[in-house]
Amino acid sequence: MEKKPFVTLEQLEKITKDFPTPFHLYDEKGIIENAKRVQEAFSWNPGFKEYFAVKATPNPAILKILKDCGFGTDCSSATELMMSEAVGFSGHDIMFSSNDTPPEEFKMADDMGAIINLDDFTHIECVEQVLGHIPETISCRFNPGGVFEISNGIMDNPGDAKYGMTEEQIFEAFRILKEKGAKRFGIHAFLVSNTVTNDYYPMLAGELFELAVRLEKETGAKVAFVNLSGGVGVPYRPEQEANDIFAIGEGVRKAYERILVPAGMGDVAIYTEMGRFILAPYGCLVTRAIHEKHTYKEYIGVDACAVNLMRPAMYGAYHHITVMGKENAPCDHKYDVVGSLCENNDKFAIDRMLPRIDKGDLLVIHDTGAHGFSMGYNYNGKLRSAELLLKEDGSVQLIRRAETPQDYFATLDVCEEMKKYL
Ligand SMILES: *Cc1c(COP(=O)(O)O)cnc(C)c1O
Repeated sequence: MEKKPFVTLEQLEKITKDFPTPFHLYDEKGIIENAKRVQEAFSWNPGFKEYFAVKATPNPAILKILKDCGFGTDCSSATELMMSEAVGFSGHDIMFSSNDTPPEEFKMADDMGAIINLDDFTHIECVEQVLGHIPETISCRFNPGGVFEISNGIMDNPGDAKYGMTEEQIFEAFRILKEKGAKRFGIHAFLVSNTVTNDYYPMLAGELFELAVRLEKETGAKVAFVNLSGGVGVPYRPEQEANDIFAIGEGVRKAYERILVPAGMGDVAIYTEMGRFILAPYGCLVTRAIHEKHTYKEYIGVDACAVNLMRPAMYGAYHHITVMGKENAPCDHKYDVVGSLCENNDKFAIDRMLPRIDKGDLLVIHDTGAHGFSMGYNYNGKLRSAELLLKEDGSVQLIRRAETPQDYFATLDVCEEMKKYL
């Protein structure tokens, strides 16, 4: 599938007059249309709720859009809980799916009325200690171990993952939690990240539904929801085929009809915690070519670097690049597109065939709407960029200003000489 930016060169030239590059830009229209598709794909399940994984794109303006689409939030830290509450999410609109959780964060989540999803068996005791009770609604994270396979082969290795409880532990957890007063139970699992196949959710749902039936039968605990968590991916590469959320929703429905309905569990709600699928394609990193360098390879130096988008440096992840205004030019130049960090992995693209790039050209780095800005850091004293929202009406809203040196220095105990920079 051809990858086209959601913004034109003309629009970008206008935007960059007010906001210097680099910045992350989000597409409100695309976000809303996609959110509506997600809601529709699971509308067969009356209790369905998507809890957007805040870590993917922690910005209140984005969360507000998703709230208006009927989504909740999935949080894993105190600041994500605070942001959710400030945007107006409350009670069961918030899922607290954390791991290695600081005990006081269980308290904070419970005070907000959020649903707590326990990553480990030993957290039962921790929660009881810090809250003084066990919440009536509670969820447990499951890890089946081994490898997770679907039709086209092994997808990932849950047995190596630090998350979740074993099957034996989850049965014991349900018994204990029920004894201690829990009334509505959930089960959760996240086995594979960025799946570009329509089979992942239906396969996972099948496994969790069967587990839910056994759990309810053997422990008498009422399973109220099954949380399929995240992991639904996006085609970062143009040759990949995008997931069809309607086929995914239908696949989950079939498993539901096959397993839960005959077991008399046709009232179980389906929850999801997608981050990437909800936001990744609807954000991009806009950067400008500021240098070209010809040594043993051809380099284009841009004004963004890995602190603005860590995925290529961290995982060797592919992010498609469009050289704006040269969409139809032949890709007859082989470049490494690099940032300015003193780290040789600071490369947005390696040996990428692109049109000839001239200094001053604007580059759009695609699919940075999730796990893009949010994975940013400050290495080399580099500052985090701005985040902008391209609104449905074509206007642009600054939803996070760029960091300044003052921000970077703000946490230091500064000496007299540094005060002139603050
Ligand atoms: C990261 C994460 C998600 C979101 O994952 P995506 O791959 O972005 O969909 C959901 N739930 C939990 C618990 C996570 O850690």
